[in-house]
Amino acid sequence: MRSFGKFYYFFELLETVLKIKALKGFKDILPDEVILWKYIEDAARDIFQRFNFSEIRLPILEKTDLFARSIGEATDIVEKEMYTFVDKQVTMRPEATASLIRAYIEHGLYVHKPVQRLFTIGPMFRHERPQKGRLRQFHQMDIEVLGSENPLVDAELMGMAAMLFTELNISVSLELNSLGCPQCRPPYRARLLSFIESRLDALCEDCRRRSTTNPLRILDCKKDHCRQQVEDAPSVLAHLCPDCDAHFQAVQNGLQHLDVDYSLNKFMVRGLDYYCRTTFEFVTSDLGAQSAVCAGGRYDGLIEKLGGPGKAGIGFAMGIERLVLLLQQQEKSAADPDLDLFVIGLGEEGGKLGYGLVHEMRKGRCRVTMDHEGRSLKSQMKQANKAGSRYVLIIGDNELASGKGILKNMATQQQQDVELDSSVLAERVSAS
Ligand code: ATP
Ligand code: MG
Repeated sequence: MRSFGKFYYFFELLETVLKIKALKGFKDILPDEVILWKYIEDAARDIFQRFNFSEIRLPILEKTDLFARSIGEATDIVEKEMYTFVDKQVTMRPEATASLIRAYIEHGLYVHKPVQRLFTIGPMFRHERPQKGRLRQFHQMDIEVLGSENPLVDAELMGMAAMLFTELNISVSLELNSLGCPQCRPPYRARLLSFIESRLDALCEDCRRRSTTNPLRILDCKKDHCRQQVEDAPSVLAHLCPDCDAHFQAVQNGLQHLDVDYSLNKFMVRGLDYYCRTTFEFVTSDLGAQSAVCAGGRYDGLIEKLGGPGKAGIGFAMGIERLVLLLQQQEKSAADPDLDLFVIGLGEEGGKLGYGLVHEMRKGRCRVTMDHEGRSLKSQMKQANKAGSRYVLIIGDNELASGKGILKNMATQQQQDVELDSSVLAERVSAS
């Protein structure tokens, strides 16, 4: 018996090992959580519509070159995080801006509408170390305005994101910076490099590498000892050319006009190469190291670089997982709409009549269900209660004979006879 026990234990262990589980960093979103996701997405869609944005849906797989050319070869995303099928030269999108611009160019969306306002919602893929608020498949709501370099658009977009956070009751702060343009960034880059040169030995390995590939990224390093080293680094804001300076001032005036609070952060440079001028992040202190819930900026040269017209662009992406976490931390819960009716059809005939009735009522837009397993009346009443149904309809032998069922209001416990007709029933259960 003892040895059988051991054998059994081994068998169970083997079974656990062999069970197929989701990949690391890929997460199932279970029904209870989906309610919160829908709550966020519905609020976002509502606001995007108010701001006159149209939805676009894009493929998940794109040519690798699209991301290398737009995001930049020397970025963390392209260097380390992309899911690329090497044999096919394709990559699962790590972000949406590049794909959206590819579609904008491919379909000539600029021809009839000089300024396009588009949004898309969906999964993105980055091979990074999974932790709270950081997954390998995560989801973004991505918004882009293509065809305008007007600073009022920058402020309008940040105002829209701020409005969404307010409506979701999530408290965040907006940090703002400007990265200048191809005229003023190179001299700033040179200034920064000469500042960093004497401090190179004190920087982390990543930052030493960045000093040759992408020195501005050193300002953005999250490691404490690197942060200390760059604390007094020259500020990009002090090196803007007159045009960029005026643009940045106008963005700030716009934010003030719309009553959107912000603070300047000269260290914010963003991990993608395509940004110029305005960059911004909405951050929270409630998610540990994963502080950014929304990030974006202007990318005026990118459309042309990808083979399109010389049009400007600006956009931002919000990470949905981090919004869900914030709402869960506030113990925010959202509920599915109540079930209108739970039909209990007793016996073969009662079940059959109920089966058709449920289908007809669903056509009439009611939220109705029934049990098909022939359980007892008591057990089905329990089920109806658990499902939070507002009404229960009982069809037993007597009801079949009289052609009238018993309709019970679950809140008042009152019962009444009701004709077994889908439209009469629909009217009754949706009346309250
Ligand atoms: P982080 O600094 O957190 O790595 P990022 O700068 O790489 O963010 P972006 O590429 O700007 O992020 O993406 C915009 C938003 O998407 C982020 O602010 C965040 O909310 C979300 N996001 C990015 N990467 C992930 C991830 N791996 N898991 C979950 N959400 C993510
Ligand atoms: Mg990242």
